[in-house]
Amino acid sequence: MDKRTAEEIPGQVDDELTPTKKPSGFYGGLRLPTDKHALAGQPLREAPLADEIVLPLSQHAGLPAIPSVRVGQAVLRGERIADPDGFISAAVHASTSGTVVAIEDRTVPHPSGLNAPCIVLRPDQEDRWCEPDPVIGAYHTEDPVRVRQRVRDAGIAGLGGAVFPTSTKLTARADVHMHTLILNGAECDPEISCDETLMHWRPNDIIAGARIILHVLQVNRCVIGIEEDKPQCEQALRTAVSEFDDDRFEVVRVPAIYPEGSERQLIQALSGHEVPSNGLPLDIGFVCVNVATAAAVKTAIIDGRALTERTVTVTGQGVREPANVVSRLGTPLSTLIEVCGGYKEDAERLVIGGAMMGFAVGHDNIPVVKACNSVLVMTAAESRPATDIRPCIRCGECARVCPSKLLPQQLYWYAGSHDHERLERFNIFDCIECGCCDYVCPSNIRLAQHFRYAKAEITVRDADRERAQLAKHRFENRDKRQTLDANERAEQLAEKKRQAAAALDIHKRRQVIDEVMERVKAKERASRNQDSTDTR
Ligand code: SF4
Ligand code: SF4
Repeated sequence: MDKRTAEEIPGQVDDELTPTKKPSGFYGGLRLPTDKHALAGQPLREAPLADEIVLPLSQHAGLPAIPSVRVGQAVLRGERIADPDGFISAAVHASTSGTVVAIEDRTVPHPSGLNAPCIVLRPDQEDRWCEPDPVIGAYHTEDPVRVRQRVRDAGIAGLGGAVFPTSTKLTARADVHMHTLILNGAECDPEISCDETLMHWRPNDIIAGARIILHVLQVNRCVIGIEEDKPQCEQALRTAVSEFDDDRFEVVRVPAIYPEGSERQLIQALSGHEVPSNGLPLDIGFVCVNVATAAAVKTAIIDGRALTERTVTVTGQGVREPANVVSRLGTPLSTLIEVCGGYKEDAERLVIGGAMMGFAVGHDNIPVVKACNSVLVMTAAESRPATDIRPCIRCGECARVCPSKLLPQQLYWYAGSHDHERLERFNIFDCIECGCCDYVCPSNIRLAQHFRYAKAEITVRDADRERAQLAKHRFENRDKRQTLDANERAEQLAEKKRQAAAALDIHKRRQVIDEVMERVKAKERASRNQDSTDTR
């Protein structure tokens, strides 16, 4: 089904697939109140080494990594402990030195709250790095494929939250003309400021990483999209660009409208062009990379270090000293809360991933992973009680703000009746789970949560169908093979019988011939005897 027509946000839309200095905006979205910018300007804090580090094998989109260490093995920081399993997968590295004490299921940050396979390290508290990979200083003279392989070896996945393996994203497609790298500096969640902090304190690392990505992609244009409410970051990035004296870069200010940081919305805001439904930015020649991911690429290629840490925003009314914290991957959330002064008395709910798109977790003994951009501690006053939900009054507010131009009230209806066919026809998979519909719904319906489960249901159904189809094929093939075997055996038997019959036939004929010959010989003998008698 086509998306519904809707009145676009007023603005210019370029005819060409090139970004414009007058961003065109995107449909829907919200201007959300925020006070996060003060936090972004504060110095970063560092989480201490925890007593135990838990590294999930699935910290990225795609297949989980495969452990390459055994229990009892000593490892160094930056050492690879799990290999990617296929094209869409990422490696996992030890985030400190120590010993592997277990490879087992532990609670991981996921809306399901379920356990998943992890590698557990006991740190030796020395935090010794392994030898860095040889530095590719003059990367621009290197084969881009080799540089991309190094990005893969470093285990980098999109640090904006989507954690798509970066080396996969940087792989060109023969059928597409790739023309622009978009550097995503539009961190739009009202509570998250880890990217803003990074742009503030490490702009040169971001630009250095983006230059490496341009080389890998063999593209000569990079547009940095940054929201209008981050003027200091904008200035820091402009200064970094001028220091590199690189005219392939363009810094473009976009309106601070949530969810500007979603890559589809940012690309539309910058270029006026929509990523097709069920498509990718690459389909229209764009590659979009988050600023933190670009900085991680710089660390991998210039410093020779794998991805072992990330910056996490720890905030909310329920924590004493909100801050941005640099944390080794695998560190428990409880350690981050301690670094930020601990919980307040009225802290009630722990949310990972921001106020708008995050999900609640049951406790704080959960590790920081590559996707973990924020930990939000909410008080009882901030949390919406589940009992507050009322029936849909069909006001249409949710559709008015949906940036994917969906009909959330309709999807809600179909999700409730598990009508997967209609959900797909109404483009449920274009839902980016931004939560704008939840925010405006006067009935307090948790629409995004329903859509997340509906998508998971459909994905499981498709996987089941695929498995069933595979099993059917296997059964049919086995059946076919058994029939062929039986036919072959019957043919072999018939052939043997034919040969036996033929042998019998030959034997009989020989017997007849032998008998005839015997009779002829007997006749001749009799005749010779008769002749000799007559002669005498
Ligand atoms: S905003 Fe809420 S009440 Fe209004 S149509 Fe959407 S789901 Fe129904
Ligand atoms: S959560 Fe999905 S349906 Fe709701 S506004 Fe966002 S994209 Fe639209």
